[in-house]
Amino acid sequence: MRVPMIAGNWKMNTTVSEAMELVNEIRQELDEIDNVDKVLCPPFVSLAAVKELIKGSSIKLGAQNIYFEQKGAYTGEISPLMLAELCEFVIIGHSERRQYFNETGEIINKKVKAALKVGLKPILCIGESFKENEAGRTEEVITEQLRSALAGIKYPNGSVIAYEPVWAIGTGKAATGEQANKTIGFIRQTIYRKYCTRVAQETRILYGGSVTASNIAEFIQQSEIDGALVGGASLKAGEFLSIVKQTSEIGVFERD
Ligand code: PEP
Repeated sequence: MRVPMIAGNWKMNTTVSEAMELVNEIRQELDEIDNVDKVLCPPFVSLAAVKELIKGSSIKLGAQNIYFEQKGAYTGEISPLMLAELCEFVIIGHSERRQYFNETGEIINKKVKAALKVGLKPILCIGESFKENEAGRTEEVITEQLRSALAGIKYPNGSVIAYEPVWAIGTGKAATGEQANKTIGFIRQTIYRKYCTRVAQETRILYGGSVTASNIAEFIQQSEIDGALVGGASLKAGEFLSIVKQTSEIGVFERD
């Protein structure tokens, strides 16, 4: 049985005080929902403050990025060891990092390995561009992204995968539930082929890309979709709460 997950990727938004304000607005209601994993991914500088605010609650914490070395002369970078003291999850391979920071499959693979080494659970983002989608190359692109990200990893211990078609991120143009379900089913098959039935059954695969309170139901109703990685809508307290509540009402059923 996979517990549905809603993760909020705040991206490069909120100062520390704004982050604290947002957490204060949603903390109590989120905490009361116990059949969904709720993960907040604020910017690095707010992780410690948010950790303190959610202490004793059922809300979990994630970072948005990681460096692949554990320590050393890498000015400005944040290491897995540092994050392991603060949070449980870390987003790796987001399309914005692939696009703006030239993260390759090889770098993403190093990051996934470095996270797993210290017990952090990667939320590994994969997804095709508009052009690739139009050319009918979605499955080919996803197969390659999974192959490179998971190369040499014997067991992806607690890793979560987020299928985020690049054309749907921040555009207001979400995939349909049916499209996302089909691709996520394909991702699960790929995980099964690389690992085994158990890993394929226990790995949560989320949809991400313009998820809002108005369309979350369409995704959660699908048999393969275990939740969502939410960007823009996670910055609005009421909207994020509604997404989590709807997931709690619809999304809890045997998923195997
Ligand atoms: C994201 O940041 O992963 C994302 C899916 O963004 P948005 O929900 O704003 O499309």
